[in-house]
Amino acid sequence: MASRERPGLYIHVPFCERKCPYCDFYSVPLAGSRAGIGGYLESVACEWRQAASGWPAFDTLYIGGGTPSVLDPEQIASLLDTARASLAQPAEITVELNPADVRAALLAALRAAGVNRLSLGVQSFADDELAWLGRRHDSAAAVRAIALIREADFGSLGLDLIYALPGQDPSRWRRNLQRAVALAPEHLSCYALTVAPGTPLWRRAARGEIVTDEDASAALFLDGSRLLCDAGYEHYEVSNFARLAGDPGASLRSRHNQKYWSRTPTLGLGPAAHSFDGERRWWNARDLDGYAAALAERGDARAGEERIDAAMARLEAIALGVRTADGVALAVVGDEQRCNVDRICDAGWATRREGALCPTREGLLRADGIARLLGSDPDT
Ligand code: SF4
Repeated sequence: MASRERPGLYIHVPFCERKCPYCDFYSVPLAGSRAGIGGYLESVACEWRQAASGWPAFDTLYIGGGTPSVLDPEQIASLLDTARASLAQPAEITVELNPADVRAALLAALRAAGVNRLSLGVQSFADDELAWLGRRHDSAAAVRAIALIREADFGSLGLDLIYALPGQDPSRWRRNLQRAVALAPEHLSCYALTVAPGTPLWRRAARGEIVTDEDASAALFLDGSRLLCDAGYEHYEVSNFARLAGDPGASLRSRHNQKYWSRTPTLGLGPAAHSFDGERRWWNARDLDGYAAALAERGDARAGEERIDAAMARLEAIALGVRTADGVALAVVGDEQRCNVDRICDAGWATRREGALCPTREGLLRADGIARLLGSDPDT
């Protein structure tokens, strides 16, 4: 594992109270599967015993899902205990929460277990939007949850929001962001609604019941970025904003998520979890039963693996780098792409800074297109 940075650890919790109609993350509704939680916890502990050897200490742990907060506090703590001895100090330890699950007792248990960062799935502060998204909380519950989290004195709080709902008026998105800013989270993740194949939302779109509008989504992206940057946040990745900290140049970025964008090794545990050791990427069986059965049979839950050669590593570094404000090293892009780099800079989509090609706000909007251009053969 050739990386100067410490690796990150991710644990996927594959349970939700119920499925949201737009979601294609792997999770199962809790009704009918609660009895399987004990077996899941044992499987993760088993996977950890098999998978952890050879990995240096992790300096981030992210417990995501699914909805980790549908587990009992002791169950979340047991996941953390699984890996505790392999956490470097200080480690960033994040847990995702649904606002409907936030209680003072849960927060106290998470604090006691060493959690120092929470990610709250607010999605919207408008009740009609939350109902349309099929969420099980309303905006009052989100505001209550944030107040409880502040009382519990967690070091860092991130809020997730969704925009570009069909027909969403720009003023409604701005109001959502203004509500969020007023609550002063350290971190904000803003995701454009995507119609993922196979979801109930996708079936509605196929029937013509909902229509998405890419131009409207792009306008909301740019407007939201301007609003948040004016409010003291750094737009450091396509979907992510961190509040600027006291020191010049410092901000409250997610250390864990930055590992994905910088191609730092990460180990993923749990069904559907992905891992990367610097040379190979692999992914676990996507269903709970298949995951548990594979572990029981062969002590390994891998469903597939891919070796990353030098050409793929370059393309990955470009595709991930141009999604971040820190950009991609020009040495990685290569001298043969000089004309394309000039075109991108002339269009105002990026600037050259300290040996890197760094996307502007307009560039972040076009990150995938820029990556395709820089990854293409310059002679074609
Ligand atoms: S709560 Fe989150 S993970 Fe669960 S179904 Fe809804 S969006 Fe997906």
